Amino acid sequence: AKKASKSSVQFYSQALKDASQRIIELESALQTAITNHEFELFLQPMLDLTSGTILKAEALLRWNRLDGERIGPDEFIPIAEQTGLIVPIGKWVISRACEMISTLNHRGHSCKLSVNLSPRQISDRHLLEFIRGSIQNSHIQPDQLELELTEGVLVDNYDKVQYLLTEVRKLGVSVSIDDFGTGYSSLSYLKKLPIDHIKIDRSFVQDLVSDENDKAIILAIIAMAHSLKLNVIAEGVETELQRNFLQLNHCNLAQGYLFSRPLPFAQFCDYLNTTVSS
Ligand code: C2E
Ligand code: CA
Ligand code: CA
Ligand code: CA
Repeated sequence: AKKASKSSVQFYSQALKDASQRIIELESALQTAITNHEFELFLQPMLDLTSGTILKAEALLRWNRLDGERIGPDEFIPIAEQTGLIVPIGKWVISRACEMISTLNHRGHSCKLSVNLSPRQISDRHLLEFIRGSIQNSHIQPDQLELELTEGVLVDNYDKVQYLLTEVRKLGVSVSIDDFGTGYSSLSYLKKLPIDHIKIDRSFVQDLVSDENDKAIILAIIAMAHSLKLNVIAEGVETELQRNFLQLNHCNLAQGYLFSRPLPFAQFCDYLNTTVSS
């Protein structure tokens, strides 16, 4: 038994070493990823559950390394966040999203795009000016851009967030609360902050059909949001049963593999052309 535990300690310390080496490697590769054009924005449509039209899409970042390796955002976003690289990367995301909106406008689709904001970006004093500049440079309507923030971001940076959201709202940009229901936070911010939409976290949608508690939570979120005049978006919708439940219970928009996976820009345009869209 002694022998086994010694070798498992060695195993774990080797695994830790590998993991930290991987982080160090990704950290240094991230430094040059923008200039090497390794990033790509995929778009995942959101469907209006009443009309069936695509009004919006979420921009989701992809990293295609020069050696061909593809790394998911769940792996590299935390590293970018810790090192502060998320600030320039996040700027790239915002300006690329504005360019895409502009291209879509020229092709006759007035689609909105939402981008994810990390906590670190909220503390960037130049963020607001950057958003304003990106909208101007791409000649899009400010209300075509949306920002997604998690509850955690709101709570940890309350004063900065309040200022930022108020100014962003003045520009005409709208704001969604992402992963709603997972943040253990007080709900008082919902009436204090200028918020437009709530995105119900995928974890509640997943077992919706079989789990009475998840059903009850979703109904409560929809009722609360509507009484505060907020729109509700369900994420992670994968089945017709989930869609039907959400539609029947007046959820406004839905996003998930049932409709489409996140798509490269060209395929997203094809998708818009082959489905009923605005
Ligand atoms: P998120 O903002 O909650 O994004 C939704 C995630 O759920 C995406 O994963 C999307 O591909 C996935 N998803 C969508 N529909 C379904 C479905 O029906 N079933 C399942 N199982 N999954 C679905 P993705 O693209 O891997 O992104 C993961 C996370 O990385 C995002 O979670 C977001 O927190 C972060 N992220 C992605 N792009 C950016 C970015 O540009 N900036 C920042 N700060 N974070 C980003
Ligand atoms: Ca999101
Ligand atoms: Ca989410
Ligand atoms: Ca999430």
